[in-house]
Amino acid sequence: MRLLFFGPPGAGKGTQAKKVAQEFQIVHISTGDILRDAVSKGTELGKMAKAIMDRGELVSDEIMNSLVKEKLEELDSFILDGYPRTLDQAKFLDQATKELQKEIDAAVLIDVSEEEIVKRISNRRVCPNCGKVYNLITLQPKEDEKCDVCGTKLIQRDDDKEEVVRERYKVYKKNTEPVIEYYRKNNKIITIDGAQNVEDVTKELFNILRSFNKQ
Ligand code: AMP
Repeated sequence: MRLLFFGPPGAGKGTQAKKVAQEFQIVHISTGDILRDAVSKGTELGKMAKAIMDRGELVSDEIMNSLVKEKLEELDSFILDGYPRTLDQAKFLDQATKELQKEIDAAVLIDVSEEEIVKRISNRRVCPNCGKVYNLITLQPKEDEKCDVCGTKLIQRDDDKEEVVRERYKVYKKNTEPVIEYYRKNNKIITIDGAQNVEDVTKELFNILRSFNKQ
């Protein structure tokens, strides 16, 4: 199965994409995680991306396209989370998946309003060691702001601050909504109400993808 995951920042798409990847045994490619990893390792890519990410803006299409193409060449099934984010990226992806004969089966949209996003995101925490994502209201760590998996103290991402979140939402509306429309026209969009709690979103998603997988 080859899937795309869309949703505004904080919709829970990363969390859900990880669950789907595990359940259906497919590789989860998060372009945000790849960039954050590059930032923390201080690579050339990371140095270039950090300031852009801290402002909530987008890294260039050229860089993102070549980064994703490299991954697609290696993998047969995958979830792309956070890519494509612009129409140019979507067109590039179309071309690349055709060339490689690995066309996309469906695009999942986890839909949530701006106000809900802002409320949620200020409570989001992430483990700087293993990448596990928590929410202090809806997906709490067992022990006070520490990772359940590795015990590391959780942190708040720089781009999870309210003003940056609002900027990222604006950027999402402007750049990514046309991309969603593009996939809607191809009847590839599966829309899920992301205002539900995490478990219910997962349940709905698994049910849809299970029936989809049998087709
Ligand atoms: P995310 O975790 O997917 O919200 O990504 C965090 C940040 O990484 C975004 O706000 C962008 O600055 C950058 N980024 C991730 N994916 C892309 C992409 N496909 N195109 C451009 N920038 C991206």
